Amino acid sequence: MERKVVVVVAVSVAAVACGMAAAAVGWRVRKRREWKKAVRVVREVEEECETSVERLRQVVDAMAVEMHAGLASEGGSKLKMLLTHVHNLPNGSERGTYYALDLEGTYFRVLRVHLNGQQSAILEHEVELQTIPQHLLTSTSKDFFDFIASSLKEFVEKEGDDSELSVARRKELGFTFSFPIKQISVCSGILITWTKGFSIVDMVRKDVPACLQEALVQKGLDLRVAALVNDTVGTLALGHYHDADTVAAIVIGTSTNACYLERTDAIIKCQGLLTTSRSMVVNMEWGNFWSSHLPRTSYDIDLNAESPNPNDQGFEKMISGMYLGDIVRRIILKMSLESDILGHISSKFSMPFILSTPMIAAMHEDDSPNLREVERILKDILEVPDVPLKVRKLMMKVCGIVTRRAARLAAAGIVGILKKIGRDGSGGITGGRRSDMKMRRTVVAIEGGLYSNYTLFREYLHEALHEILGEDIAKHVILKVTEDGSGIGTALLAASHSSNNVDRI
Ligand code: ADP
Ligand code: MG
Repeated sequence: MERKVVVVVAVSVAAVACGMAAAAVGWRVRKRREWKKAVRVVREVEEECETSVERLRQVVDAMAVEMHAGLASEGGSKLKMLLTHVHNLPNGSERGTYYALDLEGTYFRVLRVHLNGQQSAILEHEVELQTIPQHLLTSTSKDFFDFIASSLKEFVEKEGDDSELSVARRKELGFTFSFPIKQISVCSGILITWTKGFSIVDMVRKDVPACLQEALVQKGLDLRVAALVNDTVGTLALGHYHDADTVAAIVIGTSTNACYLERTDAIIKCQGLLTTSRSMVVNMEWGNFWSSHLPRTSYDIDLNAESPNPNDQGFEKMISGMYLGDIVRRIILKMSLESDILGHISSKFSMPFILSTPMIAAMHEDDSPNLREVERILKDILEVPDVPLKVRKLMMKVCGIVTRRAARLAAAGIVGILKKIGRDGSGGITGGRRSDMKMRRTVVAIEGGLYSNYTLFREYLHEALHEILGEDIAKHVILKVTEDGSGIGTALLAASHSSNNVDRI
């Protein structure tokens, strides 16, 4: 009897043990299956984001062809290729004190820059940042520019600008205006539409610098608006001031854009207008570039469809800091829908733009042994705690895929510009590669928070530039970081387009 009980107990224990072992095996099998599903999502994205050098060369060619089309006729390409009328880039010989007004969003900056004409040094500069009162964003052009003019007057009068040079000369101002305008001359342009929360209705279709100039005159301030530019043109000016081989400028921050120096005879759409100068800066608005060669994923398609400007800014939506974090978020959401590797589906995964680009940079560049930064962001921002190390590594990989594609496409865009102006070592957009061609030193000024702060983005971009161009050509192409093109660069444009420079044109 006793023996029987023992046997029964032993059999039961064995059955439970077997059951537990089977459950453990089942759990492991299920976990492995879930892991594989998540890996499959990542592998698919990786394949779709593929930017082989062959594909990048197709993007290069498409960029050069679209640039050509945009210069041939108005509306000839998604690239607007806007004329800036900037034909004198500063070269380091400028002297005197110049001002800049940088109106970007709900704040503006005023700057004063002192130049002594020697070795392209900037002697000194001062900056003041001011917030625009909310009510002025929807007021009248008079109220708005009265406010700006008062601030400028205060700034100018506070100056210690008593050098002989400054007293003798008229004061000049460069104006960085980051809204869509139709430029008429270097110092005049018509506002097409407001963006970024501004709605000063009576300003639309008015000449923006003329409105500012009128307000300045009324305040009794003798300050001439000498140049109206966007931030990319300011970057080119600053680059050129320090290095005369600078031929193009790229901004890669929240948004992205590029401009470059073009021969006026290549600007076919405006031949009659352009008889005086041999070259002019063209503002590409390259964020709007599109080509079927761009590696597009379902995540890009969804991001675009849900954006306020679907079908616009296609290139920008794959490249700039505004969007990279959100592409990563969409991939993580898909992983969590397809597998349970992140546990429950956090509601945060569905919140647009909750994951910013600096956050994906922090995850991607996390060099702690246990990826503590990845863990922190997943926990604090996306509200997923206790993510295993293996999964954290997968998240890091996703950040890398999205960033690498962005950086490599930006590199292809840059080479597209070089190709258009015959600085890529080939014979231009129709010619083949000519190994005997003598390559000139070519500098591209570059600026923006994404490029400057995200080391791996920068490294991917440089690597792709070398791959596309080949070492022999790439060694002649220099990317130079500038700082504050939209402020200092614009003041330099006031100097190079100053009415005091009678001898320059
Ligand atoms: P803006 O483009 O808004 O005029 P910036 O050129 O300073 O200003 O760029 C800011 C943008 O750069 C941010 O919106 C962000 O997308 C990106 N950025 C800033 N810091 C980092 C970082 N550490 N890592 C990655 N991206 C960054
Ligand atoms: Mg900026």
